Amino acid sequence: METDVRNNPGLLKLDLYCKGARIDDSLMVKDEGGRPILRTRAGLGSGLEAILPDNLWTNIPTSEPFTKASPYVVRRREDGSIWIDRGKEPIAPIRLAPRPNWYDRKTSSGIQMSRVGTLQGTYLGVYPAKVCEYWLEKPAPTNCRFCSVGLNLGADDADEKKVQEVVEVACAAREQSDLTYIDFNTGHYEGETYLDILEPYIRAVKEATGCLIGVQTPPHADLTRYRDLKAMGVNRVSFCFEIFDPERFVEVCPGKAEAYGLDRYLAAVEHCATLASRNPFKFEPWVSNGEIIAGLEPYQSSIRAIEWITSVGAIPTVCVFRPLTGTDYSDVPPPSLEEMVPVFASLYEQCMRHGLPIGAAPNVNVSLVMLPWEARWLVSRKTRRRFRLKEARLALLRRVFARKFLADLRRHDEKRRAAAGVGTKAS
Ligand code: SF4
Repeated sequence: METDVRNNPGLLKLDLYCKGARIDDSLMVKDEGGRPILRTRAGLGSGLEAILPDNLWTNIPTSEPFTKASPYVVRRREDGSIWIDRGKEPIAPIRLAPRPNWYDRKTSSGIQMSRVGTLQGTYLGVYPAKVCEYWLEKPAPTNCRFCSVGLNLGADDADEKKVQEVVEVACAAREQSDLTYIDFNTGHYEGETYLDILEPYIRAVKEATGCLIGVQTPPHADLTRYRDLKAMGVNRVSFCFEIFDPERFVEVCPGKAEAYGLDRYLAAVEHCATLASRNPFKFEPWVSNGEIIAGLEPYQSSIRAIEWITSVGAIPTVCVFRPLTGTDYSDVPPPSLEEMVPVFASLYEQCMRHGLPIGAAPNVNVSLVMLPWEARWLVSRKTRRRFRLKEARLALLRRVFARKFLADLRRHDEKRRAAAGVGTKAS
């Protein structure tokens, strides 16, 4: 593996998650057309949205105290270019993720669109319902210790969103940001109402945009609901169990441990993986994801989680722990790069070994995590050679799927514009 971050953008992306960066006074992010630094979702979007070499989108921690000790600085040069430097040493030119024009537009109900949904990389993230109820438990909240959702909703994110508002934002993002994927996310609600809450949004947004749709909620007891979601047009379900070590899981996620338990998360990941088509000639976009946070348990345990998730045919999503300001773990140090490299190397290797369809969705660049496909930067040349044929097969799958999906999406756009045109004339 190339160990010089100047020549390895994957390693740089990972190192920036671990160390963060400082923003030099020479860079005024908003004036440069960059995205505002927002605290949305579980808080991972708290940093600078940027694009590294090799088109690696990332969210660089810049607000938390640990970033003050980072050797990395983001600077604007006199010629207008923006660089990541290590001290005074130039490391890599970067681009700021463009701030979408629609962020400042209002929905027909008068809410600023960026308060309804935000781009995380190039996909739209929406947290449509009220705050996760672990934050409201008495006598003490049982929220996941790393999470900042209870601190964020109502600040940069509106607390409850109407279906029509979400549809308007998704259509604006489709028109102006070439959106292809929308991710819906909820926390925990008593009575397992999260899928009932999400379904009207899913139906309306799928109908309006034709985009790929993902859902991230706790695991519903009735597993038949996932077949129904797939039939409704959902393409990805994601279960965040965060921690694979059973004892550590209880410490880090007390609410999840009490309400569901780790085994129920794992059963949902496994069940949803079985819903993928077994017909090799019929590629349907459906994936089951198990999501973990690396850096809050021994890295060997994170690797075991990756091995288990891939062994059941699901795809791991691996976040790097970020000690967010105001959270219970704000003083816990982030993990070291040395511990994270083997975790992400394993992510690429295990996905390739099991022939999982990684990186298949077109125009989905993710800033909050390092994707399995991006983690190929972290393995040896020998390992890459070992998977050369599988990589070629994946590249073919991507091309075939992108051609069909993007053509369908364009037809959908034309229909929507035609319908809007008829509506305008009639009114
Ligand atoms: S389930 Fe945990 S991570 Fe998700 S919103 Fe609730 S407290 Fe945060």
